[in-house]
Order: sequence, then structure tokens, then C-alpha cells
Amino acid sequence: MPSLQEQLSKKEELLDIRGLKMVFHTYAGEVKALDGVDMNVRKGEVFGLVGESGCGKSVMALCISRLLPENAKILSGQIILKGDDLLKKSNEEMREVRMKRIAMVFQDPMTFLNPVLTVAEQVSEVYLLDPKRLSKEIAEKRIHELNEKLARMSEEEADYSRTKQDISKFQELLQSHGTLGRRELRKAAWERTVDVLRIVRLADPERIAKQYPHELSGGMRQRAMIAMALARNPDIFIADEITTALDVTVQAQILALLKDLRKEIQASILIITHDLGIVAEMCDRVAVMYAGNIVEVADVKEIFRNPLHPYTQGLLRAIPRIDKELETLDSIPGSVPDLIFPPTGCRFHPRCPYAFDACKQYKPPLIEAAPGHFVECFLYGGLPRE
Ligand code: SF4
Repeated sequence: MPSLQEQLSKKEELLDIRGLKMVFHTYAGEVKALDGVDMNVRKGEVFGLVGESGCGKSVMALCISRLLPENAKILSGQIILKGDDLLKKSNEEMREVRMKRIAMVFQDPMTFLNPVLTVAEQVSEVYLLDPKRLSKEIAEKRIHELNEKLARMSEEEADYSRTKQDISKFQELLQSHGTLGRRELRKAAWERTVDVLRIVRLADPERIAKQYPHELSGGMRQRAMIAMALARNPDIFIADEITTALDVTVQAQILALLKDLRKEIQASILIITHDLGIVAEMCDRVAVMYAGNIVEVADVKEIFRNPLHPYTQGLLRAIPRIDKELETLDSIPGSVPDLIFPPTGCRFHPRCPYAFDACKQYKPPLIEAAPGHFVECFLYGGLPRE
């Protein structure tokens, strides 16, 4: 299997978002939440989407999964997952995509876990929704276990031919793409649930599987949510501020878990956060978002070493540093714009120390200022556009 770095260097795009415009209709007016967003996530990478609260990063996650509220409307653009435009899919088809291809974990697991069902009931439900895949996984697991058992046996042992028969039975199931019987499926779902709870490092998974969400700590609930996401075996795993509500120690444990899982799962990971520390720790590439626009995209090391956009520079300056003595922390002057009446031209212009006339009239294009380093700012070129 190619290494992660080899996979990344092939630059195979898994998720490609082009020109996404989205608004919310509210009593106060139309909130222009996404203003023509372009972004892509490559196969196998951890991609960070960072920005202040209200900049539109969580809305992006809702657009990708098409879980928008009724007052939201996507005006234009494409969201292409492995060649399929998700915006052209019917609601029924999207349910299937959410079930099998996109997994999301949010900040507050209590909102998404069902309080009247045990962890096992909720995780095993994910497996039971796709009995063919569950049967295939169990058949492969059994064949592996039985082959190991066979290797330790001599042909004279009473169990030898029985073990061989069992292997053939599971091989037939695999070849016929069939499913296990109802009772076997339930047993298999329980077994896979315990497996996945073990993968997310929940100690004593059999006991935890039988517990209700209120009986678990915040960190354990977040691990249970991650287990449900992994059970889907998704193409992309979206983690939206998943450590924000946790205390620092648990936060570190969940991040360490995500790092470990990255080696074990094949999915790309999209991390949505306001925390640049998490981006530095976890991500391969990062997109910086401001007021519904992606203003800069680059490899993580490049962004921290050489931030180009005035907003990214301001964000990085605002991080407190232990190697510098400061009387006051740096901050970006002004406040986040009202997206019902967003600034004309470059949406950052009222707060930008370098703004000039064209910035107030025209929106800058996203240009490649250095290989793989994209920025949306006239300081680096690009003709003003309407
Ligand atoms: Fe500042 Fe103009 Fe660049 Fe916008 S386009 S970030 S206002 S210099």
C-alpha cells in the first residue's frame, strides 16, 4: 500500500468545492454566508479549515452533507465527492451518501447521541444499515481467524476438517456477495461495535457498549461519536470543533486519537476549527476563511512560515508566544462584518491596513502566489473582478 506521503504527492482530489454561494433567508434580511468558495481536499490528507466564529466554516460542513436548515439556499457552485456532484443528488441519494460516505462529528456529542439508546444500539445501527458490508467484514475477519487457527493445527485433529469447511462457507459468502442471516447479523453488529469502541481506545468496550450516553464523560461521548463515524467507513471524516467543549487534557487525548486513527483509516479528514494550534498539530494543508471566503490555502508549514494574506498575518500575530514578553496581545482591528450587508469588494477591506481603492470595489481572485500557496488579495496580483 502506498505511504500517506505518496498518496498526498499524487494530489488526487477527493472533495472538490467550486464557486459555492449560499445564503440564509432571515427576518432581518439575506445573510450572504458563502461568497463563491473554492476548496479541495485530497485523498488521505488531513485538511484544516480555520477562521473566526461566524466566518462560514461550519456552514461549509452542513453544505457538504446537505444538512442545511430550511431557510438556507445554495445559489450556485458544485460539491464534487469522488466525481459525484452532491448538489445534483436527490434527498434519498444524499441519505445514502451521509450513511456511507461522509461521517461528521460535532462539538457537542450529547446533541447527536440519542439519550434513550445505549452506545451499542446506536453504533450497531450503523452496521445494520448496510448488511452486505457487515457480512463481508465479518466473513473476512472469520476467514483470517480460521486460517490462523488452521495453521496451528495438525491434519489429524478432530476439528481440522470442520475448520476448513467453515473457511469455505465464509469464502462462498464473500464470492456470492450474500448476507448473513438475521440473528448472525445482530451478533456480527455487536462484535463490530465492540471492535470499533476498542479502536477509539475506550477501555472495557463491552461494558461501555451497554451504557447510555449520560453515563459517559464528555471525552468518552466524543469517542463514541468518533466510533459511530468510523463504523460508516467513510470517504471523508468531518470533525467540526470536536475538542472545543472538552477540557485541555481530554482535548489532547482526542487529538492524539485522531492522529493515531489517521494511520489506521483510509478516509481523508476535514478539521474545522478556530484553533491554529490544532491546525499546526494535526493538518497537512489549511484553508483560512474570512466572512464567507477562502482567503488563503497552503501547506501548514508554509502558512505558519510565510503567511501572505493580511488576515492570516493578523491571526498569527494574535497568538500569544512564550518566547516573547508582551504587555498587550496583538489583535485585528475592527470586527467581523455583518453578512446581511457585507463590505463591497474584498470583504476584509474595512479591517485591512493595506487596503486601496480597488479593494473597495472589486473582489480579488484566488491566485497561486507560490507553488501550492493560494491567496485572495490584490497585493499578490490578479486583476480586479466584479
Ligand atoms: Fe487588503 Fe486589498 Fe488584499 Fe483585501 S485585497 S486583503 S483589502 S490588500
